[in-house]
Amino acid sequence: MLQQNNGLWPKKILMASPRGFCAGVERAIEVLERVQNSNPQEQIYSYHQIVHNTHVVRKFEESDVRFVDDIIEIPEGGTVVFSAHGVSPEVRRQTEHRKLNWVDATCPLVEKPHREVKKYADQGYTILYIGHAGHDETMGTMGEAPDHMRLIETVEDARKIQVENPEKLALTTQTTLSLDDTAEILAVLKERFPKMIAPRSEDICYATQNRQDAVKEMVNRGARAIVIVGSSNSSNAHRMREVAERALKAAFFAEASNQKIPAYLIDDVKELFGQESLFHSLPAVGLSSAASVSEDKLQEVVTWFRERGSEIVEEVVVADESKIHFAPPQGLRVSAR
Ligand code: SF4
Repeated sequence: MLQQNNGLWPKKILMASPRGFCAGVERAIEVLERVQNSNPQEQIYSYHQIVHNTHVVRKFEESDVRFVDDIIEIPEGGTVVFSAHGVSPEVRRQTEHRKLNWVDATCPLVEKPHREVKKYADQGYTILYIGHAGHDETMGTMGEAPDHMRLIETVEDARKIQVENPEKLALTTQTTLSLDDTAEILAVLKERFPKMIAPRSEDICYATQNRQDAVKEMVNRGARAIVIVGSSNSSNAHRMREVAERALKAAFFAEASNQKIPAYLIDDVKELFGQESLFHSLPAVGLSSAASVSEDKLQEVVTWFRERGSEIVEEVVVADESKIHFAPPQGLRVSAR
């Protein structure tokens, strides 16, 4: 039921566009659904969460997909789908060893750094990888050539890293990083290792870039708080919240060093229940969702704001992704790479 705006409640909601599902996530979900549908009698496994979102994962669990973090958990001869974040050659070896049927739902944009790592490792390069330790994508990409790879997570790491031969050094990155943080790290590395081979633009994907740009633009257009819908294990979601925090701080809180910056990451609307005071007296609030979040989860948040008196919903468009689609792999059962 709509409530009268009591004057404290934000009148305007800004909605980031693009937001939510990216092409790689749509493809991974489609692949898993098709594997399920074409093997209705069979137990289907997903190696790691198919995408990093609790709601998507729960829905698949309810239709009997089992998610595993170790190939050993899958009985010999079983059927497994590799998640959107990719897998290392070691996982592929284990899959072959257990004679599993496998289907690869790795996002094509995650495959690119895998190819680069293999190419440079074969040529004897050391490869610096900007990414987050423990993330599925980091483990998959670094697993291509573990002996050749060095992980850089922070500017501090970039300042300290020592390599045997700076003449034979290449760089690649995780796809879902903060553009600003990565640019800082890259600047340090390029200064220290001028001969390092780096991709023309980092391997950060279009979806990550667009979602971060849209968050910044909502702040430019007057959003005084930002709510990002996304799960706590989603790198993409965390980076969006951090970008929001930084943009809000620069625009509205530059003088207030101790003030908590109103940039929130929530898994779903339930986390807002009872939290109305966070938004009191703000003229506008910006909403967006990470690349693994379905639109209905964001719309629940929009409804929550509207029910309390927000009247204007304005789209903030920074890019058009409507024509970007990744086709699923040909044939769903593959037994050799
Ligand atoms: S966020 Fe980027 S790399 Fe990750 S699945 Fe989506 S398109 Fe692919």
